[in-house]
Amino acid sequence: MSDPLHIVCPHCQAVNRLPAARLEARPRCGRCRQPLFGGEPVNLDPNALARHAERGDLPLLVDFWAPWCGPCRIMAPAFARAAARLEPHMRLGKLDTERYPEEAARFGIRGVPTLVLLHRGRELGRVSGAMSAEQIETWARGALGRAV
Ligand SMILES: [Zn+2]
Repeated sequence: MSDPLHIVCPHCQAVNRLPAARLEARPRCGRCRQPLFGGEPVNLDPNALARHAERGDLPLLVDFWAPWCGPCRIMAPAFARAAARLEPHMRLGKLDTERYPEEAARFGIRGVPTLVLLHRGRELGRVSGAMSAEQIETWARGALGRAV
């Protein structure tokens, strides 16, 4: 038996312990009872980002975006489709760099949209510019594969 995975709830941010075999079984949060995977990106504030990145065992793909950014708005539906395809093996989240400029600066974000892939507190890769759902999925799987 492998150790259970730590899955951070996208709704209440409780850390759930889940056997890997149950990932695909539409698991629910032990605290708030909502689904642990909704097939859509999670809106992150800096605290939630840190919790998912450092307490969770799933790789976290963050879309650093801004409301004024045209390419970001164009990419939003593609990122949502990528979330539906990459869950439950990856968590996808969005951070609004206009609302949280300090967090964007902490990550050294120079332009939006920028995707950053994090795993257990470590950055595995980043890429800038609007992408299709297929490109996002391929890039994320590639970045993860190169890191392990
Ligand atoms: Zn919950």
